[in-house]
Amino acid sequence: MICLVLGLFAGLFQSACSRANERTFVAIKPDGVQRHLVGEIIRRFERKGLQLVGLKLLQVRGPARPAPLLPGLGGPLVPRGPGWSKARAAPQAPALSPPASRLVQPAAATRAADPHRPHQSKAISLLEASEELLKEHYIALRDRPFYSRLVKYMSSGPVVAMVWQGLDVVKTVRTMIGETNPAESRPGTIRGDFCVEVSKNVIHGSDSVESARQEISLWFRSEELTCWEDTAEHWIYA
Ligand code: ADP
Repeated sequence: MICLVLGLFAGLFQSACSRANERTFVAIKPDGVQRHLVGEIIRRFERKGLQLVGLKLLQVRGPARPAPLLPGLGGPLVPRGPGWSKARAAPQAPALSPPASRLVQPAAATRAADPHRPHQSKAISLLEASEELLKEHYIALRDRPFYSRLVKYMSSGPVVAMVWQGLDVVKTVRTMIGETNPAESRPGTIRGDFCVEVSKNVIHGSDSVESARQEISLWFRSEELTCWEDTAEHWIYA
């Protein structure tokens, strides 16, 4: 009887939280987002058999780019492209000038405007995304000549931050991403297929289990990660 109960408990626990529980941090960089590669990249990891356990779109704000407010919504708007200087010059201008298509409305503003959603401002990581996050993320490269350019590039547009889970996921994701320099990345890898320059290389993936742990805790709160039963797991793992 005890064995049966223990067996049932173990089975329940296993199905709720995968045995293949290594996790890695992945970020689709601003060039990857602007070039509409988000779906393609997620598709590759999903089709490989990896499990998505965390996902958010965020815009890291640099010190010289305070976000103007959109009247009525109470949330910042993050301008994109050439419309930015106009928006800064006339923050009092009525909403949607420059055109709405030039502005990325972050989750914060959307939530505040949506009457069906409870207001949960504390859960909006977007508001916390400062350049300090990027400096910390790339702290190991702080003495490299491209460090400040790298931080600027990463704050030049929205980033999609993700946590993926699976067996040997850190190594697997790095293999699928390719080499740091796209020119050395094989066709079939993400950098091998979608970019040409090291300074615009579309995607980041943790390079070790330890750095994955640190990067996940830097970018995500524990409650932003979802442990869910992947019903395809039996077809992926023995
Ligand atoms: P990876 O992203 O493959 O782990 P690194 O950690 O060495 O590579 O570098 C972090 C990021 O810094 C790279 O993805 C790339 O965006 C940028 N970078 C690396 N080397 C250079 C370089 N020589 N010039 C410009 N940017 C670079």
